[in-house]
Amino acid sequence: MPQLIDGKRISQQIKDELKEETAKLKEAGIRVCLAVVQVGNDPASTIYVNNKKKACAYIGIESRSYELPEETTEDELTALVERLNEDREVNGILVQLPLPAHIDEDRIIRTISPDKDVDGFHPVSVGRLWIGERGFLSCTPAGIIQLLKRSGIAIEGKECVIVGRSNIVGKPMAALLLRENGTVTVTHSRTKDLREVTRRADILVVAIGKKQFITADYVKEGAVVIDVGMHRDENNHLCGDVDFDSVAPKTSAITPVPGGVGPMTIAMLMNNCVETVRRREDTL
Ligand code: NAP
Repeated sequence: MPQLIDGKRISQQIKDELKEETAKLKEAGIRVCLAVVQVGNDPASTIYVNNKKKACAYIGIESRSYELPEETTEDELTALVERLNEDREVNGILVQLPLPAHIDEDRIIRTISPDKDVDGFHPVSVGRLWIGERGFLSCTPAGIIQLLKRSGIAIEGKECVIVGRSNIVGKPMAALLLRENGTVTVTHSRTKDLREVTRRADILVVAIGKKQFITADYVKEGAVVIDVGMHRDENNHLCGDVDFDSVAPKTSAITPVPGGVGPMTIAMLMNNCVETVRRREDTL
């Protein structure tokens, strides 16, 4: 039987640690405040935003909501982000993506101050990650590192293969596994003979965005498989990019969907919120 990597338990553990840390900060008169900006009322975004606000409340992070209408212009949103950058009471800024099509997401991401970039998407945060400087880590890949470490799975010296090279998962995942001394291969839609590459993996991270794409023949016996994907199957149940039923028996450890990577993303966002204050205090 493979080890089931329990993202629900590990994310709760992280949130409890952060709750303790913010309580201590509060005693020292230091508060943490996250500004959450949503443009329009896409139902999925509203659920994500509410979950983030709930997590803030649990941990003791103040959250300030900015709910803007769909017609908000790029200049108006930029002006709000600039105001939040200047606001000394706001430690972190989160602009919920995706933004309406008429707004250039890259421009908005670049407008957020790198010191308040809790999503870790600003080019400065990405650069810091690659050169090994302290900075905000992209939440989903950072959560995967925590899943591995807290499940007792060593990364050093392992063959790590990532399927997918997106800016929010695949690429930062590569940087983080490299930082942990894994030997890293990144695959994508132009990779020749994907199966041959994925079968080399001791640790296989799948972020391809295709329902149950990775079947048992892509996986080496005894591998650790991390499934980032999030979909609904024909019965409307949540499932991942990995065909769990065929793959799990071949693995030594695997994340389920739901309850694997998903809960870690918010936990690591909360960690980045607290990190805004840790960074400031360390430089005082
Ligand atoms: P994405 O931006 O769509 O990127 C998908 C990547 O997969 C691309 O790099 C693409 O290659 C590659 N790919 C597509 N078809 C392929 C194939 N046949 N063989 C090899 N590679 C292939 O996706 P994403 O944003 O990284 O998200 C991936 C999945 O994770 C989605 O299901 C998403 O919903 C989920 N997700 C979950 C969380 C969470 O918190 N649990 C967070 C983020 C994302 P090219 O670059 O060549 O096009």
